[in-house]
Amino acid sequence: MPDTAPNSWEARAAAHSFYGFTDLPSVRARGTVVVSHGEGPYVVDTNGRRYLDANSGLWNMVAGFDHAGLAEAAQEQYARLPGYHAFFGRMSDQTVMLSERLVEVSPFARGRVFYTNSGSEANDTMLKMLWFLGRAEGQPERRKILTRVNGYHGVTVAAASMTGKPYNDLFGLPLPGFIHLTCPHYWREGREDETETQFTARLAAELEEVIAREGAETIAGFVAEPVMGAGGVIPPSAGYFQAIGPILKRHGIPLIADEVICGFGRTGEVWGCQTYDFTPDAIISSKALTAGYFPMGAVILGPELADRLQAAAEDAEDFPHGFTASGHPVGCAIALKAIDVVLNEGLLDNVRALTPRFEAGLARLAEHPNIGEWRGKGLMGALEAVADKTTKTPFPGKLSVSERIANTCTDHGLICRPLGQSIVLCPPFILTDAQMDEMFDKLEGALKQVFAEVGAG
Ligand code: PMP
Repeated sequence: MPDTAPNSWEARAAAHSFYGFTDLPSVRARGTVVVSHGEGPYVVDTNGRRYLDANSGLWNMVAGFDHAGLAEAAQEQYARLPGYHAFFGRMSDQTVMLSERLVEVSPFARGRVFYTNSGSEANDTMLKMLWFLGRAEGQPERRKILTRVNGYHGVTVAAASMTGKPYNDLFGLPLPGFIHLTCPHYWREGREDETETQFTARLAAELEEVIAREGAETIAGFVAEPVMGAGGVIPPSAGYFQAIGPILKRHGIPLIADEVICGFGRTGEVWGCQTYDFTPDAIISSKALTAGYFPMGAVILGPELADRLQAAAEDAEDFPHGFTASGHPVGCAIALKAIDVVLNEGLLDNVRALTPRFEAGLARLAEHPNIGEWRGKGLMGALEAVADKTTKTPFPGKLSVSERIANTCTDHGLICRPLGQSIVLCPPFILTDAQMDEMFDKLEGALKQVFAEVGAG
């Protein structure tokens, strides 16, 4: 029960904060977890309760919550130059260094980087770049964007329009010109008489049809997460990117990889596109870019888009776009350190080392009669709850099964996230084997408790 004393943290949060992406009836009943500090992969609330954060905050705190090197990088930069912009021919030395480093660690031989404060803004920026390019190259009608149902690209007006979630309707979104294709989730979307390969071929055919219907000359780009994150951790069906990549190329439609979650190691390679063996035309990055220690997003343009955009901007003598804090020197200093921590201080190695244990844990819990499927890649995974495993029938929405599982986990000191009927896990990269076992043991206890409560299995 929430502490309702007027001076309690819960009451103060409830009185003055407007909550986003929060199940309000549940918070009213249970109170807000007000977090005061962190210890490795754990966070501690204002009541002194400790939680293993199996969601890495919001997929981003890959180095945990008390990394001394990252805090030092921030402090040093705050002491040297605590803020600067990247407008009017000025930018900080940290910004210069980060762009060099990002191109170096990107899958591109050459490229250019533009900074934002968030993943949403990076997607909006990408879109404005594509619109700018279309007009500059004499194709002003090239404005439509293709994405997928269940794809998540953010909350600003354009990024929300790219997002394929039903809640968009609450805002009268998406804007016109945003087209959502079928989600490449074979287990849910595949037909009974269809192999996974046939399913992928059907999605490729759908893409061809949509391009033919709309006209390739009206489509500015195709934006896709290598593994869908907030849609419920959905890896693509077999051969998906190999099937759609050549179609997009043939029609001159850039493929943009939204690597906000996958980027910097989550799937076991630096980039999700490397895990799935395709080369996009540009990458959207955020979250692990700064290990969550600073709000920052980046658009990393591959060679062709970089050259074409540079030429278009030279012609126009400007690219009139940017945020006050684009390329913030403290954010850049932290990102430089975070890239080092992930690539050179063992975090990516740890993702690879932990993956078999992670997959084994998911597979073990998926043996439960009310878990229909486990899915994942690297250190991102999901378990989908079902009322009937054979027919894949979901539980009735009013039972809020995944929310109850997540709430029960919270009661036992584990933070994980309900997404639709799934429970999502994406722990920090610093986890030990023992902490991973703690995560699965607590989740298993919660699954058994909730399935017993709802009279299942
Ligand atoms: N793209 C993807 C793939 C994301 O997962 C997110 C955030 N979860 C975003 C974009 C939006 O990023 P932000 O919340 O920083 O705006």
